Amino acid sequence: MKALQYNHIQIQKISNSFTRHNCFVDVLRLDALHPIISGNKFFKLRFYIDDALANQKNLTTFGGAYSNHIVATAFTCNQNNIKCKGIIRGEKPSVLSETLKKAIEYGMQLEFVTRDDFKNLLINYQTHSNELIVPEGGYGILGCKGAATINECYTQNYDYIITAVGTGTTVAGLASNTKASIIGINVLKGNDETTLHQIENLLGKNNIKLIPDFHFGGYAKKNDVLINFMNTFYKSENIPTDFVYTAKMFYGLQQLITKKYFKDNSRILAIHTGGLQGNLSLPKGTLHF
Ligand SMILES: *Cc1c(COP(=O)(O)O)cnc(C)c1O
Repeated sequence: MKALQYNHIQIQKISNSFTRHNCFVDVLRLDALHPIISGNKFFKLRFYIDDALANQKNLTTFGGAYSNHIVATAFTCNQNNIKCKGIIRGEKPSVLSETLKKAIEYGMQLEFVTRDDFKNLLINYQTHSNELIVPEGGYGILGCKGAATINECYTQNYDYIITAVGTGTTVAGLASNTKASIIGINVLKGNDETTLHQIENLLGKNNIKLIPDFHFGGYAKKNDVLINFMNTFYKSENIPTDFVYTAKMFYGLQQLITKKYFKDNSRILAIHTGGLQGNLSLPKGTLHF
């Protein structure tokens, strides 16, 4: 694929927020990868794109109306001249989300299906011979193999790596080639067993620790505590977060550190997986960045 450069990605020390508690926290700023295809999505997609190019296939994928994966796929396919289709969960709304508008702008063909049909399609999608299916969120062996290449970005020398979890593909990839303990903050509610199962399907037995306590009511749910945290965290560290994934991860990390979850002097790497475009669905003025 037309590769994105990632040698400009940097590690940033957390200076103000977490330091009182005898841990060292660095942030891998994958959000700075690219304004559109930010964070972990590029890594999860890269080998699917290679596959589509090598076999001259169109690409079809799945997602919700606010999916970072949908917009990242649309953009990457556009860059690589791959025809792509996004199957979107739910009836077509009268006003499209910013995410879907962008996806259309990048040439993705959208097909809206009801929630029930969507579930069935995820399991029973009939592929055409010239079509490559990328499961929702980039989940799968190729996604995991791609996520493993995040470890090319200075992730060595940490005791812990912590990241937000949706499908579990990213934590699985990270865990596949590092000695650090991997901690995932699950942003979905009540699906921990399923997610651990999905991770095991990619990786086999593993030591990934999934933390179920910081979903704030479920996927894309939020409250004032979370929004205030995002504004405070930005003010003290100059790091913007998104309310669906990374804010919950950083909030969870702060809570874990406060509760002495980590041994003294632990070196922790928090992965900023990007996703900032999701904040476009918040009312103007909610965030101070
Ligand atoms: C998609 C996404 C995740 C979740 O990644 P999985 O590999 O599905 O667990 C985490 N953070 C952000 C910002 C995302 O967009």
